[in-house]
Amino acid sequence: MYEAVFLALHFRQLRADDKNKSVLPLSFSLSFALMAALRRSLGVFLPASKHFLNSSLLANANPCHLTPARGFKLDGCNFDADSSSPDEITKIRNEFEEAKKNFLNIPAALKEMPTMNPEGIYVNKNLKLDDLHVYGFDYDYTLSHYSEHLQVLIYYLAKKHLVHELKYPDSCLQFEYDSKFPVRGLYYDRQKGCLLKLDFFGSIETDGCFHGRRKLTLDEIKELYGTRHIGRNHQRGLVALMDFFCFSEACLIADIIQHFTDAKLDFDASYVYEDVNHAIQHVHRSGLVHRQILAEPHKFLVKNERVVQFLQMLKEKGKKLFLLTNSPFYFVDGGMHYMLEDYIGNGSSWRELFDVVIAQANKPTFYNSEYPFRCYDIEKDTLAFTPVDKLLPNEVYYHGSLKSFLQITKWKGPEVIYFGDHLFSDLRGPAKAGWRTAAIIHELEDEIKIQNSESYRFQQAKLHIILELLGKIHATVVSTEKGQIYKSLLNELNLERQKCRAAMRDLFNSSFGATFLTDTGKESSFAYHIHQHADVYTSKPENFLAYPPESWLHPPYDVKIMPHHVKVPGRLFKGS
Ligand SMILES: [Mg+2]
Repeated sequence: MYEAVFLALHFRQLRADDKNKSVLPLSFSLSFALMAALRRSLGVFLPASKHFLNSSLLANANPCHLTPARGFKLDGCNFDADSSSPDEITKIRNEFEEAKKNFLNIPAALKEMPTMNPEGIYVNKNLKLDDLHVYGFDYDYTLSHYSEHLQVLIYYLAKKHLVHELKYPDSCLQFEYDSKFPVRGLYYDRQKGCLLKLDFFGSIETDGCFHGRRKLTLDEIKELYGTRHIGRNHQRGLVALMDFFCFSEACLIADIIQHFTDAKLDFDASYVYEDVNHAIQHVHRSGLVHRQILAEPHKFLVKNERVVQFLQMLKEKGKKLFLLTNSPFYFVDGGMHYMLEDYIGNGSSWRELFDVVIAQANKPTFYNSEYPFRCYDIEKDTLAFTPVDKLLPNEVYYHGSLKSFLQITKWKGPEVIYFGDHLFSDLRGPAKAGWRTAAIIHELEDEIKIQNSESYRFQQAKLHIILELLGKIHATVVSTEKGQIYKSLLNELNLERQKCRAAMRDLFNSSFGATFLTDTGKESSFAYHIHQHADVYTSKPENFLAYPPESWLHPPYDVKIMPHHVKVPGRLFKGS
C-alpha cells in the first residue's frame, strides 16, 4: 500500500538559490494521486469514486481506516451497515478498556523482538558489492569524523563575523550554540523567517514550525500559511538546510530572529539568511575554521582505525580508490594525517591508499561543468598551467569536472560508488551521472538506538493498537447518528494517539523530533531525499567492513517507512 501511494505521487522539485540548497518535494494533485494509487492498490474492491471520506487513511495507510460503501469486506474489517449498532461501539470500548490494562505493563515479547543495527547498511536500491570496482569518497563528514566542538566553533566564528564585519548588534555575541535545537533537513522560509520541518508531501509538521526559538501553534501556522501544505507561492522563499554546517546555521538564524523579535526591531527575514549564510561561507573560505581545526586536531577530529582497515581492505581486493572533496588540500592532508596515519603502518602516508586525489572540486558544479583539472604543487601552493591528461596517484589535482574525470579514468557508471554526506553535492550529482551512491548520515546511529529502546517500541506497539481501534470505529459508524458514546470513545482514542506520538517524538530532538520521521510516522522531507538519491545509507563508511565484499545488498521486502524502521505489532499487548 505504502509503495503504491509513494509511486503515485508526482513530485516537482524546486531548484532555488545559487547554492542549490533549496529543493523540496512539492505539491501535486494530492487527493487525485492518492485516490488513483489506492484504487490500483486495492484493485477490484474500490469503485472509481464516492466511497472515500476519511483522511486518517493518509496518516495510517490502514485499509480499516477507509469508510467505504456498505457491504464491503476488506482485510478483516466489517463494513456492513448493520455493524453500526451501539453494540459495536460497546465492543470497541471493551477492547480499548482491556488494552489500557495491558498498557500498564511492557509485554515480555517486546524484549525478544529483533532490533536494527545502528551501524548497519540500509538499502534503497539493490547493490551488488562484487560489481563495484571504484570507490570514491568525500572528505568532510564522510571520511573525517568531527566532534561536537566543530558546530560550536562554526557558530562562534560566524556570530563574530556578523557583529564585527556586518555590524549586527554587539548583544549577538551573547548567543550560545544549542545542539539540542536543530536537526538536519529543515527549511528556512526567507519571507516569513520560520524554520520548518516538512514531510515528504511538502506539508509543515504540526510541531515543526519555529519563528526564532518559539514554536508556532497549529492556529498560528494556519494563519501564516493558510494551510499546512506549502503552496507554490511559498516554495520560492524556502532554502533547505541539509549540509554539514546546517546545525550551526539553523541555530544562528533562529537566535537572531528571536533576538530581533524580542527587541521589536524591524527586519527583513531574507537578509538574516543571506547574512548568516555569508558569515558561515566566510569562516570556511577564509580558512578560519580549517586553521582552528588543524591547530587543535585532538579537539575537533576523531581518530579512526576502522576506516583505515576499510580502505586497506578495498586496496587488497584490487579496488580503485579516489578522494573528491571541496576542501583545500592542506586541510585534508592535515586531517587525514592526524586521523589515519597511526594505523597505516610502515610509516606510510594516507596518500598511498588513493589512486586519485582531487581537492577544491567545487561540487556540485563539478558534475555538470567542463572545468579542466589543474595539477597542484603542494610545496609551492601553486597550480600548474599544463593540461592534465592523466590522473596520477602521486599528484594532487584541483577543480576539474565529471566529464574530464570519466574521459581520463574510463571509470564508468555503475562500477563506481561514491560516499558522501551532502544530499545535493555528494548524492544527487553522482546519481545522475550513473554512479552508485552511499549516503553517510552520522545521526542515523543515534536515531536507530532510540528506535531500539524499550520505551520507544512500547509506545509504537501501543500506538498500533490505538490506530487499529480508530480504524474500527471509523469503519463502523457510517450511517447512524454519531451519538455521545461514539464521540467520547473517539475523543479518548484520539487523545491516546496524540500522547503516544508525543512520547515517541520526545525521545528524539526536543524541538523538531526525529530526522527521518514526522510526528505522524511518515517520511520527513529529508528522508524522502535520501530515498531518492542514495542507493544505500549508513552512519559511517567503515560500516561496510561488516559486509563480505561479494554481498548482494537488498532492500527489506516489507519496508514500512525507511529501510531502517521496524514494525512493532500491537498484538504484543493482546493476551499479555
Ligand atoms: Mg561532506
